[in-house]
Amino acid sequence: LRYADGKGWHDGRVEARAPIPMDPASAVLHYAQEIFEGLKAYALPDGGVSLFRPEANARRFQRSADRLAMPRLPEQAFLDSIAALVEIDREWIPTAEGGSLYLRPFMFASEVFLGVRPAQEYLYVLIASPAGAYFSGGVKPVTLWVSEDYARAAPGGTGAAKCGGNYAASLAPQAAAIAQGCDQVVFLDAVEHRYVEELGGMNVFFVYDDGTVVTPALTGTILEGITRESILTLARRAGHEVRERQVSFDEWRADAASGRLREVFACGTAAVVTPIGAVKWAGGEFRAGGAEPGPVTMALRQSLLDLQRGVAPDPDGWVYRVR
Ligand code: PMP
Repeated sequence: LRYADGKGWHDGRVEARAPIPMDPASAVLHYAQEIFEGLKAYALPDGGVSLFRPEANARRFQRSADRLAMPRLPEQAFLDSIAALVEIDREWIPTAEGGSLYLRPFMFASEVFLGVRPAQEYLYVLIASPAGAYFSGGVKPVTLWVSEDYARAAPGGTGAAKCGGNYAASLAPQAAAIAQGCDQVVFLDAVEHRYVEELGGMNVFFVYDDGTVVTPALTGTILEGITRESILTLARRAGHEVRERQVSFDEWRADAASGRLREVFACGTAAVVTPIGAVKWAGGEFRAGGAEPGPVTMALRQSLLDLQRGVAPDPDGWVYRVR
């Protein structure tokens, strides 16, 4: 789909994947005016195809567009683009356990203009790719590196938007995590470098010995994960006391040491739910929580997977059938 000021969205097309011709002065190449989403289409046991809460992705895409001074793509156009592509690519949806068709909607400033102002022309594109299970051979705890020098997002910045620029800024800290032998980076807040925000591509949860489930509150610098929001609902329904609040890195270390903190897990579209194992930082290394993978982590993971695969009741209408 194309957008131009005064003309609106127009010229929607489905075509074979091919390079996009770009002028060297296209605005996105200079000022990173780009947003994206990530979601998965699952093959259902009855031969149908499902998506998980794609309306939530459509709405987050609109919020990201607002922050990046881009036009909103109507929710229905977002959903229709996905349905059209999934219909054509349904043979490509893996049926093996954990497999899915990964969908990547994105929008960028295509206007040929070098001045710094919101562009007047955009391209919305959707691509799809079959993906295997995130974990092959069973769930394995991931290890974390706590970034105390780099931050991901500052108050008033673009942290709550899903824009390419946020990920550009996260690459150096992610490389630092890998250099430390860790899988993922943990970001702390940009002001005090004290409070846990999220991982490079996942939100984080803490489970305490009294069954309380805690995740960092949305302060405007954290991505509002759709998996995060779903886990909050599922945990509440499973009888856990659920809290959204700030968790400092000092508190995390102290509660891990005392045994009060039993499990730590991360969640996102790609891995669904993953246990956290060791945590490294400039001052040393400790075990994130207690048992890994812990029973609460694995139970929440299973209930989300069952819902997504259409084998559990769906009281909130989260499963969206493409057909
Ligand atoms: N935080 C970041 C920085 C992410 O990139 C993602 C993945 N989109 C998430 C959290 C998890 O979000 P979701 O559950 O919507 O995939």
